[in-house]
Amino acid sequence: MNSDLVIDFVNTAELSPEREEVPTPGALLDWLAGRGLDPGPRATRAEWEEALGVREALRILLWAHNEVETDVVGATAVLDGAAQRAGLGVRFAEGGTRLEPSASGVGGALGRILAEVSAGMADGTWERMKACRAEDCRWAFLDTAKNRSRAWCSMQSCGNRAKVQAYRERHA
Ligand SMILES: [Zn+2]
Repeated sequence: MNSDLVIDFVNTAELSPEREEVPTPGALLDWLAGRGLDPGPRATRAEWEEALGVREALRILLWAHNEVETDVVGATAVLDGAAQRAGLGVRFAEGGTRLEPSASGVGGALGRILAEVSAGMADGTWERMKACRAEDCRWAFLDTAKNRSRAWCSMQSCGNRAKVQAYRERHA
């Protein structure tokens, strides 16, 4: 699967410090087009809101991969709705199958992202994709550690912060 696409999509928003890479429907179109996802020439406000909803649902699922209890059921329903609106269907190609959207526009572009998620679920990459365990961070990354134990976006920032906090709690 193309894990970079999904990770970069989730990381179009940063929680702290707050940063939004796609603050408008137009910015979303530019981002999707820049990734070759063919979103068409227009995006409505509703489509933009749906895209951000899909992005945050993905973040929740990646966070759940980090042994965090969160709303997996709700997030899964958001993705399922988006997949239905995209008309994701199986296509047979030489050497296997792949999912493709029948919808055009932003909905179809979101479908292409969800098709990558589905491919990652099939090839095992999805399990290794996580969002940083720190609730105020939740930066998405691919855990390439052999034992899949990576919990933080970086040991220098969130990992260290958690260590200091655990130390303080033990010595309180
Ligand atoms: Zn972090």
